[in-house]
Amino acid sequence: MPRTPPGSQSSLRAANRDRVLGVLRREGSLAQAEIARLTGLSPATVSNIVGELRESGDVDVRPAVSGGRRAVRVSLSRRSGVVIGLDFGHRHLRVAIGDLAHEVLAEDVVDIDVDHQAQEGIATAGRLVDDLLGRLAVDRADVVGVGMGLPGPIDAVTGAVGSSAILPGWVGVPAAAQMSERLGLPVRVDNDANLGALAELHWGAGQGVRDLAYLKASTGVGSGLVIDGRVHRGGAGTAGEIGHTTLDENGSVCRCGNRGCLETIVGTSVLLESLRTSHGPDLTVRGMIDRAVAGDAGCARVVSDAGRAIGNAAANLCNLLNPQMIVVGGDLAAAGETLLEPMRQVVHRFAVPAAVPTIVAGVLGERAEVLGALALVLREGEPIPR
Ligand SMILES: [Zn+2]
Repeated sequence: MPRTPPGSQSSLRAANRDRVLGVLRREGSLAQAEIARLTGLSPATVSNIVGELRESGDVDVRPAVSGGRRAVRVSLSRRSGVVIGLDFGHRHLRVAIGDLAHEVLAEDVVDIDVDHQAQEGIATAGRLVDDLLGRLAVDRADVVGVGMGLPGPIDAVTGAVGSSAILPGWVGVPAAAQMSERLGLPVRVDNDANLGALAELHWGAGQGVRDLAYLKASTGVGSGLVIDGRVHRGGAGTAGEIGHTTLDENGSVCRCGNRGCLETIVGTSVLLESLRTSHGPDLTVRGMIDRAVAGDAGCARVVSDAGRAIGNAAANLCNLLNPQMIVVGGDLAAAGETLLEPMRQVVHRFAVPAAVPTIVAGVLGERAEVLGALALVLREGEPIPR
């Protein structure tokens, strides 16, 4: 609530100050000229507000060189708080704490059992968060919010986890509410592919891109869709389920009940199974990728065929949404050009020429989702109460 009458000189100043704080929260460290451009305020007004915020200790101002010219960069100070990111994967839980200047302060990762129940996962996350806050000597009251990623669709209305073959112990669990109760902090949940999209958009391969699709190719296949700079989640929160694109009407039955979904063709367990006779039962995903890149004919064939199948589904996505860029993440992305070149060839073949995007591997690797969880709070969270 405004503390001053609306329309008054001081309420205008407060509104302008909040605009400056808002863009710093979303974008991290900025030059004053960038703050002026993003807020629409005049350089003189920005300069005055930054001076006041520096005086009150809300922002830090550091000298920097930009385009060969000396400039200063402004960012929110540690006094403004920290954010926490959690990422539950197939066999891991990763936790990161970042400040509002968008620097990661501490990070940890532990192995978890694939078949764990949600309650165990929540308890483990609680311990890791307590430990990291203790190590950083950060008070819980200074945590602005928590972002959390899960590998499954999140119901937009109930916040419950939908079907997930990847973490079956979480299905039907209102994850945000339960994690929030354990941590005593506000928690927002999103699926892992949306978080990968946010992270690559903000810190990775997709910086400066307005329309982007992030494809996560691992145990399952999901996509995060960014339309005009914002993640598109759809009416029920299930937008981007590209893994269930039908590629073979007579193919194997998928966990969704259909036949021949992309996921039944390129899920990493399916790829390993196809190499079982030739390469033995002990081959790991990493081993398959390393051999494919090193030129092993069988592994290279399996990975490049996966690239072609993903390209098929991606071509339809390009015709529908016309992303400027597709960023490929997840375990398979480590195969680089062995995966991407066949994918590009198929997209070229089946997408209308004007819709063919740049296709690249993500640059954030296995940290993409936890960084996306931080970005979820920084970029889409509620404004900081003050
Ligand atoms: Zn399916």
